[in-house]
Amino acid sequence: MTLKQPNSMDECIYFTNRSIGSGKAKAWVFKVKCPKCSKSLMGKPRDPKTNKPKIRSTEYTCPSCNYTEQKNEHEEKLTANIQYTCPKCSNQSEIEIPYKRKKIQLLNEETGKKSPADALQFKCSKCEEKINITKKMKGT
Ligand SMILES: [Zn+2]
Ligand SMILES: [Zn+2]
Repeated sequence: MTLKQPNSMDECIYFTNRSIGSGKAKAWVFKVKCPKCSKSLMGKPRDPKTNKPKIRSTEYTCPSCNYTEQKNEHEEKLTANIQYTCPKCSNQSEIEIPYKRKKIQLLNEETGKKSPADALQFKCSKCEEKINITKKMKGT
């Protein structure tokens, strides 16, 4: 399997590249064409003054016909592409999973406390280790 790589961030609604323990993961989710008019890619609505996407918006819209979908409804139909190096067995592989976050308990290594977090979770194809790409929390 060879995943299609994004040419620019504008093609993605999500992109991350980070280390996970001794492994790493790169993940991206492509924007999809508007299901109504097929002319444009669905994305976060843009601020008419600055023309920058409103990243906190809970909707995705088509810039051509203004067709709108709620964030959750839209994201559930999308696919996350992930290239990873397993932190446990160093296996290098790729995987496609539904773009749906799971609630997990994340261990803070500094405090030893667990706290809830949202993560894209998948299993290493070799050792079945669960690998989490957590959503970056505010203030961390
Ligand atoms: Zn449209
Ligand atoms: Zn592994």
